[in-house]
Amino acid sequence: MPTTLFEKIINKEIPAEILYEDDISIVIKDINPQAPTHLLIIPKKVIPKLSDANQEDQKILGHLMLVAGKMSQQLKLDDTFRLIVNNGAKAGQSVFHLHLHLLSGRALNWPPG
Ligand code: 5GP
Repeated sequence: MPTTLFEKIINKEIPAEILYEDDISIVIKDINPQAPTHLLIIPKKVIPKLSDANQEDQKILGHLMLVAGKMSQQLKLDDTFRLIVNNGAKAGQSVFHLHLHLLSGRALNWPPG
């Protein structure tokens, strides 16, 4: 398997604005932000997309959600944010290393596009 873009960021082979890191995950600013706050919450384990995750990934998936809440508190997002997972190219996924988008800081319409 070729190294994913996010693995290169995790391995510090290419730069990114890292806001948080622990044994399981890393949080970076998106290079092309779609809101005043646009973070990517990325597991260090390479799971290409959410639908590839299995039972053994349960702890990782839960951890990513908890990190989202932690980032909201740390960045004082007023408990107002949206999490998005694009699963598959037709859903807009372009990097095949699972990640949560966390968007905040502007009105977020519903339904999303
Ligand atoms: P996807 O389209 O797979 O759901 O999301 C991939 C995200 O990665 C996009 O929002 C895109 O802007 C972001 N991205 C792509 N390349 C880079 C990069 O080199 N650095 C950072 N920080 N974000 C990137």
